Amino acid sequence: MRDTRARQTVAYVLPVYDEAENIHLFHERLLEATRARPDLDFEFIYVNDGSRDDSLAALLGLRRSDTRVTVLDLSRNFGHQMAVTAGLDVATEADAVIVMDTDLQDPPRVSIEMLTMWEDGADVVYAQRRTRRDTAFKRSTAWAFYWMLDRLADVEIPRNVGDFRLMDRRVVAEVGRYREHDRFLRGIVAHVGFRQEALLFDRDERHAGTSGYPLRAMVRFAANGILGFSTAPLRMISRLGFVISGFSILMALYVLGVRLIHPEDAVPGWAFLGVGMFLLSGLQLIMMGVIGSYLGRIYVQAQDRPLYSLALAARGAHPGVTSLSGRSRPSSAEAETSRHYGSSRRVER
Ligand code: UDP
Ligand code: MG
Repeated sequence: MRDTRARQTVAYVLPVYDEAENIHLFHERLLEATRARPDLDFEFIYVNDGSRDDSLAALLGLRRSDTRVTVLDLSRNFGHQMAVTAGLDVATEADAVIVMDTDLQDPPRVSIEMLTMWEDGADVVYAQRRTRRDTAFKRSTAWAFYWMLDRLADVEIPRNVGDFRLMDRRVVAEVGRYREHDRFLRGIVAHVGFRQEALLFDRDERHAGTSGYPLRAMVRFAANGILGFSTAPLRMISRLGFVISGFSILMALYVLGVRLIHPEDAVPGWAFLGVGMFLLSGLQLIMMGVIGSYLGRIYVQAQDRPLYSLALAARGAHPGVTSLSGRSRPSSAEAETSRHYGSSRRVER
């Protein structure tokens, strides 16, 4: 159980793109839900992601009537993942952060259930869709995407999970250290680790307006998920090369067979061309795969992710053990060694 003696603060990170028709109703519903927890201090961080409608004016209106509202206005449309990142970057003081959509697809009352799971010790509570109210096309493409992701990604990324989730402040601090440009936040959160738990819910339909994710953006998003968490596509080049080179051996056997059994069918030069074609294109792919392997390493290095995240640093009094080495940047956990995270999960704040 988390320590609830001190008042805890919970920040909502709320990306907004063309939601003028939804904002007021959304905020009302959110306030209604948060009223169930008068023991917590809430903060609402709205991030306007270059909306073309009156969303900004609506948000500034909320800001005037409620001092707990923060409005960030991005200079243009940077996309949902960047909007959430901007919100997380200013939410680092909160004890827990909840990310949710502002089109009323993510029910506010579910976020209150997340808080209970957090207080019981979960560091991440992700909302998993029990049902999807999407078109058959979106359902089948999503299925194919998760199937690929399961097979290729280096970390297990849960299925049917969007960005609706609660994160403990330690997780928010760690996620903030991932500064890659092509962002796939749910992959980053999975990569960070800590205690992650699922909460099943039924996703509602969008209240008003249209989805800000056209097919083009969905494809790019899926590619970010796979390319950001796997170099398997690069290694596939080599594998294909070996298969095609293997064909050249089969081809050679076939040619030999024709020569021996039906010598009258063998056209001069045919064997050389046939075998050579498979052998050479196979070799080329293998060598491209070699380049791909180096490229993959450069890519991973260029992402410059933290090497690991600490959940506990209970340092001894031994004078020789003053710092923990092996990382590229200092861990945020190191500065907080006075906070103890034992198996009892007692948190001193
Ligand atoms: N959104 C955003 N920037 C964008 C597209 C969407 O901030 O470029 C916000 C949008 O306002 C909503 C959330 O991200 O709060 C999810 O977007 P949407 O409902 O369009 O996606 P879907 O639910 O269809 O996946
Ligand atoms: Mg939506």
